Amino acid sequence: MQFHLNGFKPGNYQIPDSIREPAATPPIIDLPKDVDVLIVGCGPAGLAMARQLSEFTDITTCIVDLEDGPLEFGRADGISCRTIEIMEGFNSSEMIVKEAYKLNQNTFWEPDNIKPENIKRTHKIADARIGLSEFAHGIVNQARLHELLLEGMKNSVTHLVPHYSRRLLELDIDPNLTQDLNAHPITATFEQSDDSKSAKVETVRARYVVGCDGARSSVRKGMSIALEGDSANKAWGVMDLLLVTDFPDIRVKSFIQSKENGAVMTIPREGGYLVRFYVELDLLGKDQRASDLNLKAEDVIAKAQLIMHPYKLDVKEVAWWSIYEVGQRVAERFDDTPIGNPDGLIPRAFVAGDACHTHSPKGGWGLNTSLPDTFNLGWKVASVLQGKCKPKLLQTYSSERRKVALQLIEADRQLSKLVATRPTSDKDAPEAKTNTVDIQKFMARQNGFVAGTSIEYNPSYICTGAENQHLASGFKIGQRFHSAEAIRVADGGRQHLGHLNKADGRWRVFIFGNKQNPEESSSESYKLVQFLANSESSPVRKYTPDVADIDSVIDIYTVFQQKDLSIENMPDFLWPAKGKFGLRDYEKVFHAEEGNDIFDQRSIDRSSGCMVVVRPDQHIANILPLNAYQKLTAFFDEFMIAQNQS
Ligand SMILES: Cc1cc2nc3c(=O)[nH]c(=O)nc-3n(C[C@H](O)[C@H](O)[C@H](O)COP(=O)(O)OP(=O)(O)OC[C@H]3O[C@@H](n4cnc5c(N)ncnc54)[C@H](O)[C@@H]3O)c2cc1C
Repeated sequence: MQFHLNGFKPGNYQIPDSIREPAATPPIIDLPKDVDVLIVGCGPAGLAMARQLSEFTDITTCIVDLEDGPLEFGRADGISCRTIEIMEGFNSSEMIVKEAYKLNQNTFWEPDNIKPENIKRTHKIADARIGLSEFAHGIVNQARLHELLLEGMKNSVTHLVPHYSRRLLELDIDPNLTQDLNAHPITATFEQSDDSKSAKVETVRARYVVGCDGARSSVRKGMSIALEGDSANKAWGVMDLLLVTDFPDIRVKSFIQSKENGAVMTIPREGGYLVRFYVELDLLGKDQRASDLNLKAEDVIAKAQLIMHPYKLDVKEVAWWSIYEVGQRVAERFDDTPIGNPDGLIPRAFVAGDACHTHSPKGGWGLNTSLPDTFNLGWKVASVLQGKCKPKLLQTYSSERRKVALQLIEADRQLSKLVATRPTSDKDAPEAKTNTVDIQKFMARQNGFVAGTSIEYNPSYICTGAENQHLASGFKIGQRFHSAEAIRVADGGRQHLGHLNKADGRWRVFIFGNKQNPEESSSESYKLVQFLANSESSPVRKYTPDVADIDSVIDIYTVFQQKDLSIENMPDFLWPAKGKFGLRDYEKVFHAEEGNDIFDQRSIDRSSGCMVVVRPDQHIANILPLNAYQKLTAFFDEFMIAQNQS
């Protein structure tokens, strides 16, 4: 798809440039007085939380932002493979795949040995992330990702829409109420922040609050959470440009280091013409802010021009620009319980995204860490509110996501050191001056982290079974389910199994059969299915309300090695009757495909088979042998609440 030829136009890229208009400012509607979940901030973290909760009619959610409408320009633009996988969970990956620039190559430029005032390409390589996911790293306006999430919320069963023009003034958490799960311990006070300058103040009481209100988070301050780490000492100019240039790699991601003038990173953008520039600016002094530099867009362009000499940058339009200054900082805790939570308290307030971790934009990790933060939290809050899971589940958010934030800060520290050149007069740190080969090595070493695909949660009761990892070593416990294809038995259709892991709060168990024919009642797979279907201790039976469809809490899929299977020979449980008409679900039984075999691709033990238990956020929770019925039951018993007490 090509767009922005005659100027950058924000909005829905499915609408032609000539008639595309940004969304109208939404009307101001009074805030609700009481809600289950209050979300502050409509960035990627807030919207992903809201998008997840919008799936549930029995949960009331309110999301607010101080801006007067959705984001239109700028900010992050790199959408990692993992973020697109998550968007697939929300049924929204297609648009990103279609509209985004797909990153295939990186080039590296350094001072020319012969004429060091000029830059010269040293090498061009394939992007290190290719092959880590069925999706490629995409580059698209952050606002477009927001739009897709907003669209999903609006079209959901709850028709959730944000309340704009509201600034959080004060957050109060009543310590006497936090351990009473039915109480509303949170009181948030907002003022209207629209042009009318109305002094209207509104109060919302909530059972849970999630602060997704960015780096200067008021929620974080209201929770008295300190940030640990370095404050900003480096400013970068960020610009989205439409330009004419003789720089040959303008449609390839390029790392450019000049001899004297610093570094530039260029990133091709969606639509074929737009380009993002990151331009290294001066070091900031202690307590100095980037705004003190008093720079204009022309100054940043002039700096880029100096760095990229002898190539010419004839800028026709600056679609968006900003000076970006951030230090590497992490919140000391991500919820309202004390550090270490020695008394095992149930958290009621959380911070997510930039509100709890900030770093430079170089690795493209901001959006791509913020959105998975709430993808981790959303299903946990929902399942506790719905009485499906024990409230202790909420304690796992902080421990799982703070680990990722710490890794992120460390990676950003390393990359910042590599990308940023120092003034040649800085004799104390000559080793900091480095070349682009080190950046390339770093990106290759950290490719899984940069892509988000190797993010791994530590062992816990929802990430367990390490002793069985060998049964499917390509499905790493704690990491996301790495999708692969299989063939549906009922109709021969090819299915990416990872795309069955929708963000609907359900658990999934993938049963990978062994060598035995699953149609025979003596086979391990057959016996396991009988246990799941009929036993009183089957977690499917225990945790699914009698009135609900059998797959509404734990959804079972089977993947067999045998290719000559017939759906009518499968137990009813694998093609269950569902819904008000009792229609059969034909989409739960698969077999491996010759030449594209998931057993080979994910190193699944063919002789023993296994069960792979997948969390609602697509991370692998457990791997078990096919006959480990008790262990499967014990796994779910640890955190789920039985539904059918008679
Ligand atoms: C100006 C700017 C430029 C950026 N440039 C880049 C870039 O070039 N590359 C890159 O990778 N990343 C960039 N980022 C970072 C990236 O956008 C973030 O990492 C990502 O958006 C974080 O998502 P989030 O949801 O945690 O927070 P944010 O996207 O920051 O969203 C926070 C939201 O909370 C709202 N809010 C804040 N305070 C209140 C309040 N008191 N009451 C109500 N609402 C409130 C804000 O209006 C905002 O919409 C930039 C961020 C900013 C702010």
